[in-house]
Amino acid sequence: ARSVISARALSRSYATAAPPHALVLLEHRQGVLDSGSLSALTAAEELGGKVTGLVIGAPEHVQGVVDKAKKLKGLTSILHATSAQYNEPLPEVVSPLLEKLLSNSPPFTHIVSATSSFAKSLLPRVAAKLDSPAISDVISVEHDASNNSTTFNRPIYAGNAIATVRAPSSIPIKFFTVRGTAFAAAQPQDASEAEASVLEPIEVTDSPTEHIKTTLTKSDRPDLGVASRVVSGGRALKSADTFASTLYPLADALGAAVGASRAAVDAGYADNSLQVGQTGKVVAPELYLAVGISGAIQHLAGMKDSKLIVAVNKASRVLLPSIVQDPDAPIFQVADYGLVADLFEAVPELVEKLKA
Ligand code: FAD
Repeated sequence: ARSVISARALSRSYATAAPPHALVLLEHRQGVLDSGSLSALTAAEELGGKVTGLVIGAPEHVQGVVDKAKKLKGLTSILHATSAQYNEPLPEVVSPLLEKLLSNSPPFTHIVSATSSFAKSLLPRVAAKLDSPAISDVISVEHDASNNSTTFNRPIYAGNAIATVRAPSSIPIKFFTVRGTAFAAAQPQDASEAEASVLEPIEVTDSPTEHIKTTLTKSDRPDLGVASRVVSGGRALKSADTFASTLYPLADALGAAVGASRAAVDAGYADNSLQVGQTGKVVAPELYLAVGISGAIQHLAGMKDSKLIVAVNKASRVLLPSIVQDPDAPIFQVADYGLVADLFEAVPELVEKLKA
């Protein structure tokens, strides 16, 4: 078993008044940088100190990511580790590397990543080893250099309240994951070129888990997580066939990604990866078009920060008794525009008008 480094020992080795130095996990999929990591980089930059990017992966992917990362605004240096073991990185395989890095200099004060499945497993794992807390799904961050404390805001109760959490200077390394929709993606800039250095990988021979396969849903439409327009369908779409034949032409006419409510996913109308909401993806596009979705609180948690929300709903007596004869369905309470109409008439009409 690897030893647990106590917070007190870390406090001693990390100067308490040191300016912030964030380590950002730059995740990528087979060499393509994840947009969530670009948002994490922006959050790290907001701490007001140095920012180092960490890239791990298989030898054939890492160099391309490092070259792209070098140009990113806000990044002062890059560490990269390559190993065949990091091709499909597992938290169990990567955590010893991060743990060792954080136990040595340079003294990182903050470990930042997107709120991705991988980071949600990796960061708390390493934080626990270092006897530090980890804060997830952060939507804003502020570092006070005068007393070395960092204050985070994060949504709780499915976004119905915002918790303000302060990590004082007695916590030497502050781990946090950020919600991608709350921070702009870091952009490349001509001037800067961050310095890159190699980090020796740590071979893990006793990992309790093994990667077997990755199954990705392929789509020609924009990625739901980063699309500027999203068309989502709910239970009212009736079947997988009508979901596709009604919503896809609308999404294509708008150049939009397709999303779905959990009811639509559970009924098999749409793939799991399309679910928007508390237990699905959190999106904040320029336009969110909710078709046949009632606007349950768990759905709103995933889309209510969209810039413009449009709802099409016939406010059915059968499915939502609380809104009998009343267009005030929950979705209409967050919508900028609401159309009380039968979607099977309104959507094809909308598609025709958009095409014209
Ligand atoms: P319904 O609530 O059944 O709404 C269908 C709507 O379609 C109604 O408003 C009706 O008026 C309208 N309609 C019907 N026919 C037509 C028509 N012809 N034309 C126009 N409108 C029509 N849900 C999520 O979406 N995402 C989540 O992440 C999520 N996580 C959850 C987590 C937990 C722990 C729990 C308990 C629930 C979660 N849910 C989530 C489920 C959520 O509570 C709702 O059940 C779900 O969002 C309802 O989906 P819906 O709006 O498609 O269906």
